[in-house]
Amino acid sequence: SPQNNGSEGFEGLPAIKKVAGTSNGPRVPGKVVIITGVNSIMGIGRATAHLFAEGGAKAVYLCDYDSKNLETHKREITSLYPTVDVHVRQFDAADEKAVKAVVDDAMENYGRLDVFFANAGIVGPMAAFTDISKEDFMKIMDTNTASVFLAAKYAAPAMMKTSSEKLSASGSIIGTASVAGIRSNAGTTPYAASKAAVVSLAQSISYQLSGTGIRINSVCPGLIETGMTAPTFESARARGTEKKLGQLNPLKRAGIADEVARVVLFLGSDEASYVNGQAWAVDGGLSAGHPYVL
Ligand code: NAD
Repeated sequence: SPQNNGSEGFEGLPAIKKVAGTSNGPRVPGKVVIITGVNSIMGIGRATAHLFAEGGAKAVYLCDYDSKNLETHKREITSLYPTVDVHVRQFDAADEKAVKAVVDDAMENYGRLDVFFANAGIVGPMAAFTDISKEDFMKIMDTNTASVFLAAKYAAPAMMKTSSEKLSASGSIIGTASVAGIRSNAGTTPYAASKAAVVSLAQSISYQLSGTGIRINSVCPGLIETGMTAPTFESARARGTEKKLGQLNPLKRAGIADEVARVVLFLGSDEASYVNGQAWAVDGGLSAGHPYVL
């Protein structure tokens, strides 16, 4: 039977206008992608790198200041998805020269940069705010917030060189914020502040990039089992209270890295061509309400 494939109308109806670059095939074909915070075995960065490779990316840069697993991640991705170029770069995501260098590297190698996922982050000390030193506060702001600022600062001008007037421009910057950045919680105060600032950076920069076609969004994971939260899960398992960990959200469970990565893949793809300046909660609904006792 005849199909409306987007180019022809069905039985005389006008065809639906389709976003350029999208298809039912690969989600991110040919894209050049930089991801920070990829070393962690259970982390959001590693899961995202896999999805972009699976989605047909041309090149993926695996970046982290800890390089212990990066070469293994590279071998794994290359064996699963042989067509993708995988690069490993060891640097601190808050090091301005290093962030500029990885963007320059992508431009030199491929003449384009499509996605920068600024995902590296730390929690910092789990302590009352009155016990946290200014040095620790600034370290968290540097790692979690300045890193996203720097990613945008160097990725946007590079993306502008290849971004075009077509409906789906190629540039997408994504910063990892947190549900802690959109709702306060009992966790660490500097962490929450650093992540609220990531939400704000995406909002503000989206307007600064008006007219360029480049998009910037933040993702706000809830409780996800990764390297960062492993100690929490381990001690809960030891106490037999693991199930309680996810109980605060309406889905009543913690999430996995792949569930966040899938939202990042969408934001990095041309399918999200009209999604800009937003904070995307991936938290099982936690931030949709507040605990209510019947
Ligand atoms: P993870 O600890 O498993 O991964 C974080 C990675 O970032 C690690 O590989 C680490 O080496 C790297 N990193 C830390 N500081 C860095 C720096 N200065 N430069 C380069 N790399 C650095 O944790 P994750 O949960 O995958 O964290 C990814 C992001 O998700 C972080 O920004 C985190 O704050 C955020 N997040 C996580 C959760 C959660 O529940 N796991 C919730 C909300 C937000």
